[in-house]
Amino acid sequence: MDVLKKLTILTDSAKYDVACTSSGVDRAGDDTGLGNAVAAGLCHAFAADGRCISLLKVLLSNCCIYDCKYCVNRISNDVPRAAFTPRELAELTIGFYRRNYIEGLFLSSAVLRSPDYTMEQMIGVLELLRGEYRFRGYIHAKTIPGADPALVARLGLLADRLSVNIELPSERSLSLLAPNKTKRAILGPMRQVSRSAAQSKAELAVYRAAPRFAPAGQSTQMIIGASPETDYQILRLTEGLYRKYELKRVFFSAYIPVAEDTLLPALDTKPPLLREHRLYQADWLLRFYQFTADEILDEQHQEFNPYLDPKCNWAIHNMHLFPVDVNRCSYEMLLRVPGIGVKSAQRIRIARRNGSLALDDLKRIGVVLKRAQYFITCRGYTGAHTSGPEATVRALLDPAAFGVGTQQLSLFAAPAIHELAAQGMRPALAAQEVREEAVACMTRQM
Ligand code: SF4
Repeated sequence: MDVLKKLTILTDSAKYDVACTSSGVDRAGDDTGLGNAVAAGLCHAFAADGRCISLLKVLLSNCCIYDCKYCVNRISNDVPRAAFTPRELAELTIGFYRRNYIEGLFLSSAVLRSPDYTMEQMIGVLELLRGEYRFRGYIHAKTIPGADPALVARLGLLADRLSVNIELPSERSLSLLAPNKTKRAILGPMRQVSRSAAQSKAELAVYRAAPRFAPAGQSTQMIIGASPETDYQILRLTEGLYRKYELKRVFFSAYIPVAEDTLLPALDTKPPLLREHRLYQADWLLRFYQFTADEILDEQHQEFNPYLDPKCNWAIHNMHLFPVDVNRCSYEMLLRVPGIGVKSAQRIRIARRNGSLALDDLKRIGVVLKRAQYFITCRGYTGAHTSGPEATVRALLDPAAFGVGTQQLSLFAAPAIHELAAQGMRPALAAQEVREEAVACMTRQM
């Protein structure tokens, strides 16, 4: 098989992997080698399906010995198979880099022969790139669950970022849908990467030339919607992963049905894109807005509100904390005001040192008041919350959940709208009905 054919098969096989952003590391080029990496991230896309990638995103091989039920590359599936040799893949990467097609490499693989053999092949690619070709561009590599820790250690010294896919949100789902993988085989390398990265950071602080272990940290990916876990369970797991293993990112991948199996959603099930979107929003609240998973969801409310983003949903359930005076409230409380993001909260914190802020001052420093006006007061402004709960709810509704094109619904439209449309109702009318019902219901709850 020629290299182009292999490339076609193996980039297509890699498209379900979403853990691929590339920010977080700076490495200047030098006169002796090729390329550089910048912390601001990369911006090219390469895959044919248009998913978010800026690297050559490819599998070393899709010849898998495992049989994960949700995966297109599982051993029992009849798909074209291919595998690169380390030299082929290294040459391809350098060739693309020289042509300015890519700025780095995202390398993953199916389990070819055994986890150790696969890791050795991946290390082979990276050793060629870093050694023979002196490639200094960004490399993100997946570790293979069950591989020898010594191989993980070698890979970490060559790659900028490592990731170990947690795959599914619970051990039970893992044993049902990915019987060859275990929680231990996944969390073991995660722990190792976290410890080695911390140790490397400490060594670099005293000795600048100390080897750098995965300087852009580690990430993981979780499939959403292939198993029955609730949003609350997923969010708690995410929070635990950030805390315990200091992950840079947890990526969520809405399950796209690729296999018929009684344990999986039916083949005509739509990928839960709105749910994936809400998880990313909640993930931001965990990482940048000082929320905990238990504040966003709880035992009684285990699923996200499809009509509101998680921060707005938290706000309407905590109206007793609002309105807040932007001139007096804590920075933490500013972050919790719907419509006020991290940048706006920082600007307010700085601006109010010079005097009491009025509504015009907030506008001048770039604070968007469309939502925030219902939750704040400031000099000369007593707040729009007096216009009542219904007006507040209407202002907070997430337009993405009611997205309707001229002919069809947006993929992010709320499930209730899809259901009405499936019964034959015009999409615009379905969205209108669901919107009014949602407003009435949420207004009653306030
Ligand atoms: S290990 Fe599982 S998820 Fe990974 S390629 Fe093989 S079958 Fe797919």
